[in-house]
Amino acid sequence: MSCPNCNQPLLNGIYYCDDNDYKIIDNLNDKNLIFIFKAHDLRSDDIEINDNSVIKYCNFQNCKYFINSLSEN
Ligand SMILES: [Zn+2]
Repeated sequence: MSCPNCNQPLLNGIYYCDDNDYKIIDNLNDKNLIFIFKAHDLRSDDIEINDNSVIKYCNFQNCKYFINSLSEN
């Protein structure tokens, strides 16, 4: 599967909500930032904090595309 915007191969990542923003990270152990999707102003005890799901992403030239990999089938 490739990116609908720029046709690059999609990579595996995690959609993750932390104290500051929604972001794409490489995995839940390292939490290396791939890109920030958007900031939020949730309280740090909000139920959404630490929410995460497996996604596939493209960040080629700041493409910032991602898709839930469960919907890939
Ligand atoms: Zn792309």
